[in-house]
Amino acid sequence: QGIKKHFPVGSGLFGQKSNSVKAVDGVSLDIYPGQTVGLVGESGCGKSTIGRMVVGLTEPTAGEIYFEGRKLSDYKSKKAMGKNLQMIFQDSYSSLNPRMTVADIIAEPLVLHKVGTHKERGKRVDELLERVGLAAYHGSRYPIEFSGGQRQRIGIARSLALQPKLIVCDEPVSALDVSIQAQILNLLKEIQKDLGLSYLFIAHGIQVVKHISDQIAVMYLGKIAEFAGKEELFANPRHPYTKALLAAVPLPDPKLRDRERILLKGDLPSPANPPAGCRFHTRCPVAMEKCKVTDPALIPTSQDSRTACLLYDRSIV
Ligand code: SF4
Ligand code: MG
Repeated sequence: QGIKKHFPVGSGLFGQKSNSVKAVDGVSLDIYPGQTVGLVGESGCGKSTIGRMVVGLTEPTAGEIYFEGRKLSDYKSKKAMGKNLQMIFQDSYSSLNPRMTVADIIAEPLVLHKVGTHKERGKRVDELLERVGLAAYHGSRYPIEFSGGQRQRIGIARSLALQPKLIVCDEPVSALDVSIQAQILNLLKEIQKDLGLSYLFIAHGIQVVKHISDQIAVMYLGKIAEFAGKEELFANPRHPYTKALLAAVPLPDPKLRDRERILLKGDLPSPANPPAGCRFHTRCPVAMEKCKVTDPALIPTSQDSRTACLLYDRSIV
């Protein structure tokens, strides 16, 4: 609810300007049991920062995150809530300790949480390896012996060890070949179906989240530009930024290739100094005068969608 994460930059000393990077600037989002919310946007828009706040790896500057109705900030320790909230990372090289065996990596959360005896943990590790499509004997090997896709399976097995209810998947397939991406996405979907898990699935490309998401949130410079059910977002995108992201996706059907092409001008502005008014106005192909001064609120544009764009806000003239 209304979460913000501002990082201070500059010392404010000797006339140097002190400022803050508004990595996340007022985001509210609901994730329901057994569902997946896809979170998309360009690098630096604040997606990973949201993911890290959701699992308690970093604290919001403002706002509150609730898990099953309870504030995360009320949990006595990170450990107490860590059982329910887990994360899978993009980089399986740096997220798996190269000096530990795969079995020790997967068992680590169980050891930290003092779950089971040594023997019980060993059994659980075998089950988890099998669950992610790896054979039990792989447990005695080291991460370096595996391909990127297999390492991502190991990361998934570790994230499942404590039977969490929500997993934040931070670009888990971005570093993989397209054919391997599909395998990992299918695995995540199967696991969700079996275990009733919820996912917050972060990606920079909208196409990646298409098959796995129930709802999609499109972020731009620390804020949500549009939130909608997946079908609706693809069939009827409303925000000019969402339209631009969809137009950037190569279409296999030549008849569809003539679809309105919107090309974004320029780079993503700095989150230390976001444009006034609508943050997207410097790149929006349909920007109006009022967009330079009025910051659009995220307002309902249908039963399941919300859009932050003045084109849809009739209260502002
Ligand atoms: Fe474009 Fe204006 Fe809508 Fe922002 S508010 S997305 S600048 S039309
Ligand atoms: Mg990121």
